[in-house]
Amino acid sequence: MSELITIDEARRRVLEAVTALGDEPVALEAALGRVLAEDVTSAIDVPPFDSSGMDGFAVIAGPAGEVEVVGEARAGHPWAGALSAGSAVGISTGAVLPEGADAVVPVERTTAVEGGRIELPETQPGANVRRAGEDIPLGAVVLRAGARLGPAELGVAASVGRAELRCAGRPRVALLVTGDELTEPGAPLAPGGIYGSNAFALAAQVESAGAQLVGRTTVPDELESTRAALAGALDEADVVLVSGGVSVGPHDHVKPALRELGVEERFWGVSLRPGKPTWFGTRGDTLAFGLPGNPVSAMVTFQLFARPALAALQGAAPEPRRAIATLGEAVARNPVREQAIRVRLLQGENGLVARPTTGAQGSHVLTSMVGADALALIAPGDGEAAAGERVEVELL
Ligand code: AMP
Ligand code: MG
Repeated sequence: MSELITIDEARRRVLEAVTALGDEPVALEAALGRVLAEDVTSAIDVPPFDSSGMDGFAVIAGPAGEVEVVGEARAGHPWAGALSAGSAVGISTGAVLPEGADAVVPVERTTAVEGGRIELPETQPGANVRRAGEDIPLGAVVLRAGARLGPAELGVAASVGRAELRCAGRPRVALLVTGDELTEPGAPLAPGGIYGSNAFALAAQVESAGAQLVGRTTVPDELESTRAALAGALDEADVVLVSGGVSVGPHDHVKPALRELGVEERFWGVSLRPGKPTWFGTRGDTLAFGLPGNPVSAMVTFQLFARPALAALQGAAPEPRRAIATLGEAVARNPVREQAIRVRLLQGENGLVARPTTGAQGSHVLTSMVGADALALIAPGDGEAAAGERVEVELL
């Protein structure tokens, strides 16, 4: 680790190494969280016909007067006739506006009189009528390539009649957690053992980023096992994530193993706290991240470096969502490294306020991630970042 690079430089080197994956058709039911790989153009008008915006009566607009009700138009059941002067048709919201009609009078503005007749107020043409194409005109682009498909996007795709969308392939991610001390939750703790959390926290981050986990392996601190596990992971995945074992201790085998397997180093060491011992390299189009073992460092470096790579692999904008907030309390600066402080965001009088999550902020204190809305990025320097100082926050 000769020279630490900045977060931005590390992120630049990651994104520079990404080649976007191909795309595939995906059924709407399975597309939540996927990234769109096409512009979606509507092949129809939405709504497809002039329709009623209210329950009431379809009429020919004009002065107040009495008319005869000659039929009914319900949603999905158009009235077959043509409306002539002196008559009206009962109509439901969303029903086709009958031929000849040019306005709808809401039922509560009419009065029933003898013999199937009603009294209407004066009516303007177009009143309570939804025009064909008013929501989406035929030919309009409703969704753009690169959009992540959430509930609204899926609804819009369905509303223009699409059952399938072209989506970016999901990056295949192999997760390797290293450490002889790691015990599976649910099993009894051995002497010197700890429950491994990275396999779960990182796996969840991978899936939240729209990628798919193709392997989750615990690897002992031993060169040959590390090399074998990495060899398999590099063959089957687009992205290999390793946690722990990346430092320079006598039992840290990740870097030598990756080197032996032909993975070329792109950076080692970031001027960041927590998360300094982070390694990144590539073999062909395959990306390999050596993340620190400390649980907070692992999650933070995933967020800062691996998440943008997974977005870019899917053709989505890799830029983090950032905002400006004022610090709710002072934070001691690190003399040389940028800090990623886990914060909750609260609405203050003058915008967002960032408060460190309660308790210690050490790289091993995973509870500091619980309830965190963002990482506040605190520039290095002397003294402290004072309460009230404006800082950039990266939303989680
Ligand atoms: P390492 O990077 O392997 O030196 O690990 C640094 C610290 O993180 C050590 O205290 C490890 O026990 C801890 N650690 C490594 N992997 C995990 C894990 N999967 N879950 C929880 N803690 C871990
Ligand atoms: Mg270790």
